[in-house]
Amino acid sequence: MFNGRSIRRINTRFTEALYLKHLAEDVQKRHSYAWRRNGKWLNIIRALHRRSRNIVIDWSRKFAKYIVLKAKRTKSVIVLEDLEKLWFNSSQKSKTLADKLSRFAYGKLQLAIITKAVEYDVPIIFVDPRNTSSTCPRCGVKLTYNHRLAVCKRCGFTADRDKIGAINIYLKALQILAPCQGSRGTHPMTDETRPKGGSLKDEPMTTHIKTYTSI
Ligand SMILES: [Zn+2]
Repeated sequence: MFNGRSIRRINTRFTEALYLKHLAEDVQKRHSYAWRRNGKWLNIIRALHRRSRNIVIDWSRKFAKYIVLKAKRTKSVIVLEDLEKLWFNSSQKSKTLADKLSRFAYGKLQLAIITKAVEYDVPIIFVDPRNTSSTCPRCGVKLTYNHRLAVCKRCGFTADRDKIGAINIYLKALQILAPCQGSRGTHPMTDETRPKGGSLKDEPMTTHIKTYTSI
């Protein structure tokens, strides 16, 4: 999470959920194809998957409530990546257990946040996730990665992938809300028009703005 001043890494229960998925997979492997016909093993496998899913859903709902109430209290906007354009919807879908679970978790978390935001009248901005982890947030050049750590060759900015993503998502939202310094609500430099037109101030708080910048 990035609020314009500081980065915060949130502890999720993802590892715990993934562990249960691995346990289920182990049972399946150990018993080859026999588990399919064995009611007892089938039940164990299903229970493990169910517990894993419940952990993700439960955590997502709790976190969504926390973040939406925080946004409401501080009169903030929540900025999310547009899921439809995310990397994991591209053709090169990864089949590993961790990737499958993270796709599932990301979807559930977004859904939970959107649901809570509607309930509490907190506005959400969806930004195009393209290049959010590959562009230097300080100078804008393309970053090179060493595992999850990136160092900008031009300005020396160093951060891990998640931090860079969070800062860039924030910056994209700023460009939508205030494309020029000092001007609030001016239309960004895109071909698209705002869904309902009019200035930000006139819009009800429940409006879900869906705008993309062209960068
Ligand atoms: Zn840089």
